[in-house]
Order: sequence, then structure tokens, then C-alpha cells
Amino acid sequence: MNHVRITLKPGRERSVLNGNPWIFSGAAASIEGVDTPGQPCNVVSARGDFLATGYVNTKSKILCRIMTRTETVLDRRFLQNRIDAAASLREHIMNDDTTACRLVNSEGDFLPGLVVDRYGAGLVVQILTAGMEALREDIIEILAERFNPSFLVERSDTGMRFDEGLEAKTGVLLGTVDDPLDIRENGLSFRVDVLNGQKTGFYLDQRDSRNLVRLHAKERSVLNLFSYTGGFGVYAASAGAASVTSVDSSAPALELAKTNMILNGFDSVPQEFIQDDVFHFLNKCDRQWDVIILDPPPFARKKSAVDQAARGYKDINMRALSFLNPGGVLATFSCSHHIAPALFRQIAYSAAADSGRDVQTLAQTGHAADHPFNLCHIEGEYLKGLFLRVID
Ligand code: SAH
Repeated sequence: MNHVRITLKPGRERSVLNGNPWIFSGAAASIEGVDTPGQPCNVVSARGDFLATGYVNTKSKILCRIMTRTETVLDRRFLQNRIDAAASLREHIMNDDTTACRLVNSEGDFLPGLVVDRYGAGLVVQILTAGMEALREDIIEILAERFNPSFLVERSDTGMRFDEGLEAKTGVLLGTVDDPLDIRENGLSFRVDVLNGQKTGFYLDQRDSRNLVRLHAKERSVLNLFSYTGGFGVYAASAGAASVTSVDSSAPALELAKTNMILNGFDSVPQEFIQDDVFHFLNKCDRQWDVIILDPPPFARKKSAVDQAARGYKDINMRALSFLNPGGVLATFSCSHHIAPALFRQIAYSAAADSGRDVQTLAQTGHAADHPFNLCHIEGEYLKGLFLRVID
């Protein structure tokens, strides 16, 4: 059995008993038997009662990530069962119209530190923590056997790995990546660069919100801010948008945004692709729009940055609202996990109040169902969206 043992301080077992998968170092009274980051460990209460099995990393702020609340050896069979459970959820999400989705969503699938995205017949894996790194061989073998992917690419190049004391790892682990690689999402086509694109290539988490934009885009001018490869714009065009303007600072992302309009046969829709800083673009913007999508990168990467980030979100939302025609719709998002859903609503409220306009809420959105989050792990609920309509 696991010989590393973390004993919690009195009273600190509550969050583990509630199902929260993170234990911060401040909650531990003692740690016995640790040699290397990522070792499996048992967690016990101050009274010595068994609470959970997870893995330990004394180099990380998160001392332990829990894998199961049953005393377990974290072996290949355990991983296989968890990955099978994750895959069964996605059977109902993937079909001929949607050929890409998240297959394993870290804590949300009770596999903290492991992300697997499916792009057609291929897979992209992110191994984000020392504990998952220690299980690397089993993970890769299971993915290869269970899914027989045409390619397996690694994109373990996020900041989270550095917090864990790990170097970035990227590359093709198996097979050959289709070139070009095209996927379908809700019946639309998208070209994805899994080797060099952002995240694992595509913002799969926004699938449902992109679809919702279709409701509001017909015969309307659409401004897609922080467009990346143009996802929201393609959906808007599919609904008959009058025009689509995409703004992003990344030239390769905008190249793909152009390609994605062509792939779907929307080349005749009036469209512009503007490589610019969105803040700069809004400073000099002198026209009004019917629909604005505002999907910025996380403004708060650390807890200490929340106040400043909240001001940033408020400011940009207020400005976006001011550029809407009467009856116009703002689809606004935050993907900072430090900005809780209630705070995001509060920010939108302040922006609406200060804009002086009458604003209706049409929808509150979040990740698509292939990005489940553990209800006891609020940090997993990182993506928040609001569809707001200005009356006049
Ligand atoms: N809505 C997109 C995802 C947006 S991700 C989708 O559905 O696919 C955020 C995007 O913001 C990235 O493409 C990044 O290149 C861009 N970005 C980050 N900072 C920026 C800035 N200051 N100005 C313009 N674009 C920026």
C-alpha cells in the first residue's frame, strides 16, 4: 500500500470528506515517507482515520491531489477504470456533426492533472502534475490500447507544470498528425493546429456558447473580440450574420479564422480579420455593432490579481456595451478560475450600471458537458458566460 502518509490538522478533514480534491500545505500536520514529487499517498485525519488516496508534491502549493476516497493502489487498473468512466460520458457528445471533444477533464473526471482531448481519430494529452507524470507510461499505454488513436500528441506546456516543478513536454508520441487536421463541431468545420495552437489546439470548452450565438446573429453585424481561430464568427455566419469582424493579437490564429470561414463556404459573408490588441482596437473604434462576443484570456492568473482583474473585466464590458446598437447582444465570458460565477455576475452588473443602458440577461452559460467539474471543487468551474441584451 501507499507508504507516504499525510496527517491533517484537527478539523481539516471536512473538505476532504465533502469531496474537495485539493489539500493545501497549510492543512497538513505532518507528512511521512516522501522521497519524490508525485508519489502516491494516503491522507488521514488528525485522529488517524483514513480519508483518501492521492498523490503528493511538496513543491506545489497544492500539497496533495486526491484521486479516490477509497484506499487504493494507483495502478493501471485504477486508471483504466477512471478513463473508461470518462469515455462513457463522451459517447453521447461525439457524433458525425461533432468529432472533437474533451475526453478527460482533470479534477472534473476525478483524474487531477490529466487532460485528454479528442480531435477526430487522434488524441492530445496534457500531463500537468508530478503525480500524473509518475503515471505517464500507464496513461499513454491505456490511451493507445483503449482508443487506438491515429495520433497521440503531447501538449504538456502550460504554466501549471512549472508550478509543479516540471519542465514542458511536447511532441508526437504516436502516429502522424493529419495535415491539415479538420474537425466538425455542431455540423461546422474547423481546422486545428494541435502542435502549435493555443491550449490543445481549439477552445473546445466554448462549444455550447458558440452554438447559442446562432440564435442572435441572423442579419446582424457581429464583432468577435479575442476571436482566436474565429469559432464564434463561423457560427454567426452559419446563422446568416450580415458581417463578421474578428479581432485577435495572434496572426496564426487569424489565418486559421480566415480558413475556417472558407472551409464552411462562408467566403461571401462580409468579413474582416484585424490583428490588433483588443484594448487598442476599442480605443479607436468608431462604429456600433449588433452582436459583440467578448472572450478574453484569463485576466486573473493568481488569486492576488482578482481585484485588478475585476476592474479590467468591468472596464472592457462597459466599453463593449457602449458599442452595441439598441437591441444588440453582448456575449461576455471569463475563463479565470479565480473569478467565481457570482463575482462575474457582479462585474457584469457594475458594467451595465455604469454604461447607463438598460440590460437584459438572456442566458448564463459555461463549459460544454465534456468539461464536467466536481461540484465540491469550485476552481473547476472556470468558464462563465452571460448573454446580455441592451434595450436602447
Ligand atoms: N473565443 C475563442 C477563444 C478565445 S481565447 C474561441 O472560441 O475559439 C483568447 C484569445 O485572445 C487568444 O486567441 C489570444 O491570442 C487572444 N488575445 C490575448 N490577449 C489579447 C489582446 N490583448 N488583444 C487581442 N487578442 C488577445
